[in-house]
Amino acid sequence: MTPADEAELLHAIDRWIEKSVVPVVKHYDHADEWPAPIVAQMQELGLFGATISPEYGGLGLPASTYAKIVMRISSYWMSITGIFNSHLMLALAIEKFGTEAQKQQWLPRLASGEVRGGLALTEPDAGTDLQGIRMTARREGDDYVINGTKTWISNGIQGSCFALLVKTDPEAEPRHKGMSLFIAPKGPGFTVGRQLEKLGYKAIDSAELVFDNYRISADHLIGGVEGQGFYQATGGLELGRINVASRGVGIAEGALRLATEYAQVRKTFGKPIHEHQAIGLKLGEMVTRARAARLLTLDAAAIFDRGERCDMEAGMAKYFASEAALENSIESMRIHGAYGYSKEYDIERLYRDAPLTCIGEGTNELQRIIIARQWVKRNLAA
Ligand SMILES: Cc1cc2nc3c(=O)[nH]c(=O)nc-3n(C[C@H](O)[C@H](O)[C@H](O)COP(=O)(O)OP(=O)(O)OC[C@H]3O[C@@H](n4cnc5c(N)ncnc54)[C@H](O)[C@@H]3O)c2cc1C
Repeated sequence: MTPADEAELLHAIDRWIEKSVVPVVKHYDHADEWPAPIVAQMQELGLFGATISPEYGGLGLPASTYAKIVMRISSYWMSITGIFNSHLMLALAIEKFGTEAQKQQWLPRLASGEVRGGLALTEPDAGTDLQGIRMTARREGDDYVINGTKTWISNGIQGSCFALLVKTDPEAEPRHKGMSLFIAPKGPGFTVGRQLEKLGYKAIDSAELVFDNYRISADHLIGGVEGQGFYQATGGLELGRINVASRGVGIAEGALRLATEYAQVRKTFGKPIHEHQAIGLKLGEMVTRARAARLLTLDAAAIFDRGERCDMEAGMAKYFASEAALENSIESMRIHGAYGYSKEYDIERLYRDAPLTCIGEGTNELQRIIIARQWVKRNLAA
């Protein structure tokens, strides 16, 4: 993608946000209502195929351009990025690890948004410790029969197809060798348990998914070989972390934008509040954090686009940007005084959305452990 093409695409995204997202965001967020018109517009913009190769009908965007799109949207409303982010994690698993027949069958429909879905890994008793999942898939002739429950699955209600992590050999040691990843379209035996109520990340549905003797043919096993599921599920994490980092950058920048505007119009003791040193110090820290988060994220994306390993860099970006989102949103809220606590102002939404970025795609506790391990590995003492 040339710089001119990228600029044109980002300009189109900016125009769409201004015209179609900003006027309705408060309504959908406060009502916690599925934003059907916005989803249709995202489909028209090609966002459901953003990172899918053009040969399968996608836009084939590099991670750096994709990251900038997610940053821009998240600086207004992070929730809607989850609708295509989680979907693209399903597509990535198929494109990276699927058989050619699976790619031909699923990717064009995922790219167009005709089929939308997500990634179903987490279970009630297993999040960070993914190898502790209990869901099983038992081979029966040409089929697999799947039983168990997933939880916290984004797009669980509105989506129709998920990358589903299961145990095909629950006794395997080490545990990851018994794990497999399936393409799981909704059908008999696959029901939505309940929608989960959340602090933020509204309008996108997070749901419990229940599998009760759900039967699918063996050609739904991604890559066609059992035992690869753990690597396949975590194989998309570099892009997944760049994506969550970009959401964090967006929130950090959005909170800064709102604070900057407010601090110039709100006056106390005869002057705009940004002229009080206490507020100036906050703005100085916020702009530095937002800038650092953006640069770390674009650095990780550039390494990813060169085809090099970037697990440490993506981890650092995700960790730093999500903490920046959290800190900038609360500082912006403080700058807004009582109005920051009001549902009439936008900052309360960014404040409620920010903490998710510290949890998703590996909690920030785990993230620092991964960064440290990688760092030591790259710097072994002689
Ligand atoms: C809004 C939302 C959307 C989500 N969407 C999806 C989705 O689409 N698909 C999906 O599969 N999942 C999804 N999740 C689940 C998410 O990925 C998990 O919540 C996350 O991985 C953490 O798992 P957990 O909640 O079970 O926490 P736990 O694993 O129980 O962790 C609890 C605490 O212990 C810490 N901890 C755990 N292990 C260690 C360790 N070894 N060292 C140090 N600290 C540790 C954690 O950092 C955390 O602070 C979503 C969650 C939310 C809130």
